Amino acid sequence: MNDRPSSPRLAINGARLWHSLMQLAELGATAKGGVCRLALTDLDRQARDRVVGWAKDAGCSIRIDAIGNIFARRAGRDPTRAAIATGSHIDTQPTGGKFDGNYGVLAGLEVVRTLNDLGIDTAAPIEFCIWTNEEGSRFVPVMMGSGVYAGAFTLDHALQACDRDGVSVREALASIGYAGTAPAAVADGAPVFGAYFEAHIEQGPVLEATGNVIGVVTGALGQRWYDVTISGMEAHAGPTPMRLRKDALLPATRLMQQVNAIALAQQPDARATVGWVDVFPNSRNVIPGRVRFSVDFRHATDAGLSRMDVELRGAAAQLASETGLPIDVQQVVYFPPQPFTAELVDAVRAGATALGLPQQDIVSGAGHDAVYVARHAPTAMIFVPCKDGISHNEIEDAQEAHLTAGANVLLHAMLAVAQ
Ligand SMILES: [Zn+2]
Repeated sequence: MNDRPSSPRLAINGARLWHSLMQLAELGATAKGGVCRLALTDLDRQARDRVVGWAKDAGCSIRIDAIGNIFARRAGRDPTRAAIATGSHIDTQPTGGKFDGNYGVLAGLEVVRTLNDLGIDTAAPIEFCIWTNEEGSRFVPVMMGSGVYAGAFTLDHALQACDRDGVSVREALASIGYAGTAPAAVADGAPVFGAYFEAHIEQGPVLEATGNVIGVVTGALGQRWYDVTISGMEAHAGPTPMRLRKDALLPATRLMQQVNAIALAQQPDARATVGWVDVFPNSRNVIPGRVRFSVDFRHATDAGLSRMDVELRGAAAQLASETGLPIDVQQVVYFPPQPFTAELVDAVRAGATALGLPQQDIVSGAGHDAVYVARHAPTAMIFVPCKDGISHNEIEDAQEAHLTAGANVLLHAMLAVAQ
């Protein structure tokens, strides 16, 4: 049979999706109701095994690539067509929740189960995937599996990354049995999707505040991360007169205020955060001789991000000349803003409209696997609300009705491009 994508009886089974989420959350469950399931641990293996088992039960074939990404495929009528894919990750932060990432993977599984239930065959194959080490908690870089896929860094670079105990990704993948043989990078022959959708909890407070159920994600903010180092001279806090000090913390605190002001001057598109500060020697009665701190800039446009970069460097130079203390600004990470594909964003919007769900356009402030996939395949994302906008926390929570709504939009959007 061929249901039209907008047919009202085309609906996923929300209770089944919820039940699967709760079953997966048993693996690494924490006392506070969260999940601690770090990438490539034995708990990650158990979770992978569980989802792969469900995928096989749903009739999917499984492909595992050289960085351990898992692709579960439901065949289409036309084997020459590129897969219409969805997915996310099932690794968590040490204080993670049940929904971050897991929702996107299991929403994909639920789409496959629903197509089976309704006897719908699609022209293009349908795939759902699990990307390796999205969180970057145990191994850096973050978004490792999708980053290798997209060519953001090489497979070897990822395989050589080590955790704090000196265990490499290569060793960890082998020990959990997920060192696959399929090519991992598009450049090495990994299949390029016909389209990729990712459903995810918002991880922010916007949808909850507006009362909208569906966030139609139009793209992801660009990011520039910096290490700033200010050099002064340590000296005794008592005998050293104020006018003779080289206190590195004074220009540091002034520059931190300016970091904040730089973002406030470009609202609502800009974000700026100083999240990490290291004061040397960090002793009560020693004038700080060196201060290092991080700066995290995010902006919807590359021009805006560049403007923030110029302003940061200008403020640092100004403070250095005023105080006579050297200020070094090193950019350590750059992600360009990633707009999603208009046609797929429209498919998400149309799905929400057909289902009568309150929706709004939204930009992702966080990184997601979809941001890397978008470098090669048409991509879009679907956000659903999470309680108080909180994630990376054991109290992370989401409502079954909202998760169901997001998965229904996913189903409609995928069918719209798979036929
Ligand atoms: Zn996530």
